[in-house]
Amino acid sequence: MDDRLFRNAMGKFATGVTVITTKLGEDVHGMTANAFMSVSLDPKLVLVSVGNKATMKPYITNAGKFAISILNEEQKDLSAYFAGQINETREIDFYWFQEMPTIKEALVNIVCDLHDAVEAGDHTLFLGKVTDIVIRDGEPLAFYEGKYRELEDSKRVK
Ligand code: FAD
Ligand code: NAD
Repeated sequence: MDDRLFRNAMGKFATGVTVITTKLGEDVHGMTANAFMSVSLDPKLVLVSVGNKATMKPYITNAGKFAISILNEEQKDLSAYFAGQINETREIDFYWFQEMPTIKEALVNIVCDLHDAVEAGDHTLFLGKVTDIVIRDGEPLAFYEGKYRELEDSKRVK
């Protein structure tokens, strides 16, 4: 099957956008991901799918901890930055939460201990056991058909 057909089909599944962060020693690393899901309530587990070539993979594997920040509608630039789409290196002022770097002013910051890692094709599924959460008011950054979107309340399904 053609890759573009697969990506076009997967792009029809509207998602939010997250930035995954972790810390290995004093070294902090972040990466944009929309392959995120809630998995289990008891215990509280979440999942992110990380490409095997991503720098993030050895970071999470070795750190044994990671954080997920759900971006708000004003954080498109941060999404592009942590996807490596902006050709510059920035000094990022992280919000430190439970001694983990997370994205400031995101809708949600989640910190987790690594629960399991499952190789799946060219990605690795990292399951995290959630240890703490912060929630803030705001609207989400959405991703649909390979483009960023905002939710319009007027178009809410009744
Ligand atoms: P790099 O490419 O090395 O880093 C990303 C960028 O962040 C670089 O510019 C780097 O300089 C910067 N950076 C990282 N840490 C810091 C720091 N501490 N201080 C300052 N700058 C820093 N890929 C997936 O595997 N799974 C997904 O679910 C996924 N979803 C995506 C969703 C969207 C909307 C987009 C746009 C991309 C998505 N990607 C996903 C692709 C992924 O974000 C990129 O391939 C990314 O570049 C891979 O990250 P990396 O760990 O290799 O980091
Ligand atoms: P796109 O049209 O490539 O993405 C549409 C959808 O396809 C995504 O939401 C995702 O569900 C799926 N997808 C894309 N690349 C994938 C991959 N390598 N593995 C598994 N699923 C994938 O959108 P775009 O704006 O061109 O994406 C920008 C960049 O970010 C591309 O390089 C893309 O590969 C990457 N990306 C990767 C993932 C991922 O690894 N899970 C997800 C989204 C975007």
